[in-house]
Amino acid sequence: MTLQRSIEEINKKIEDGEANIYTAEEFKKLIKEQNAPSFEEVDVVTCGTCGVMSGTAAILNFIVSPPGEFIRAEKVYFNGVPAFAGPCPNEWLGEVDVILHGTTHSIDDENYGGGFLLKEIMEGKSVDVVVESVDGKTIENTITIDDINRAQIVGSRMAFKNYTAFTNPGKAPVSSIFAAIPLEGNFSGLTFSGCGDINPLQNDIPHNVINEGKRVLLNGACGYILGDGTRSNAEKPNLMISADLTKMNPYYFGGFKTSQGGEIFNTVAIPIPVLSEKIYNNLLITDEDVKLPVADIKGRHLPLCETNYHELWKDYDLRPKYDENKCSSCDDCIVERVCPTNAFSKGIDLSRCFGCGMCANFCRHDAFDMNTGDVNLEIDKREVNVPIICRQSDRLRANKLALELKKMIKNQEFKL
Ligand code: SF4
Ligand code: SF4
Repeated sequence: MTLQRSIEEINKKIEDGEANIYTAEEFKKLIKEQNAPSFEEVDVVTCGTCGVMSGTAAILNFIVSPPGEFIRAEKVYFNGVPAFAGPCPNEWLGEVDVILHGTTHSIDDENYGGGFLLKEIMEGKSVDVVVESVDGKTIENTITIDDINRAQIVGSRMAFKNYTAFTNPGKAPVSSIFAAIPLEGNFSGLTFSGCGDINPLQNDIPHNVINEGKRVLLNGACGYILGDGTRSNAEKPNLMISADLTKMNPYYFGGFKTSQGGEIFNTVAIPIPVLSEKIYNNLLITDEDVKLPVADIKGRHLPLCETNYHELWKDYDLRPKYDENKCSSCDDCIVERVCPTNAFSKGIDLSRCFGCGMCANFCRHDAFDMNTGDVNLEIDKREVNVPIICRQSDRLRANKLALELKKMIKNQEFKL
């Protein structure tokens, strides 16, 4: 690819306060208004995505007892969530290395798992640790982030481009990782993931600038792309990314309940330096251009039709408004059960809300005001209108992190 400007030239403009930096949301808005800046008028576009990213794990090292109390850990539990002891044995040191999967569920509560636990650690909350050692001892302790020597998040499959949306054409409800409750039949609802035209990989096809070694923001911490993700291919690329957990902002990270147990969400922002017209042209993609297959909830191998991200994100409210006067204080609040991020408990905590729309779709007394959207699908030559019942991606967080990245680049706190 022939480059028409270099990173050094863009960095110089940043130093001189003359760089033109847009978030993807700002840039796409100008495109839609037929007012897009030309190649000469844009230096960097910061893209973002936020969604359920199952392949997330943490590598932690922490002190659990004084030296000499046990040989080495065999089993480790954090608030009941099992972690894998090792790889380093730390013999007689009283400290433990573990790998903890974001999708591992607690042995006591399958809705509580690695995602919720790691968020609590980031928030500075106390966590109960149980270590069963190879010499038959059980060590119990409570730790906080201050007792952790090193904590690194590794996402083996992040910032996916090209998701699939799901609906249920059958009769019986189907439980899956794509919604917090089993999806009812007869096309009663649709769930999907993906931030559409603001997603980094959607703006860099094929990878011209988003490559191994590139610096990114992962949940607010500066991190790096380690390479392609574990199921990456030319058609459906994704990235392996890593960053220091202790520097992350818990707002951008957390657990996500599904009807198959707890999952985990992350937020990623990546800068695209506009080094050539080819890179610039790739940035002109909009939601209408980003297609999304719709499949039977029983599997991606059962495609039904196709839609696009404009259809899915148009006229959608990013957050619900809760009216406590309409709430009937039901004995068994379904919203508390289905809210994937536990953002609702007799009131809504917007700092935890993901904008998924489940509350507005399932509250028995319409206590939530939110346009959750619907989509017209053509299936077997028949038009079907399907309400969107769960969004597993959050454009608000994605846009916020992309804006944070833009400001950091402008203030020279983040080097391209
Ligand atoms: S289901 Fe709706 S009305 Fe009933 S307690 Fe929950 S929020 Fe209130
Ligand atoms: S939109 Fe409603 S159900 Fe979804 S995270 Fe927010 S409060 Fe929970």
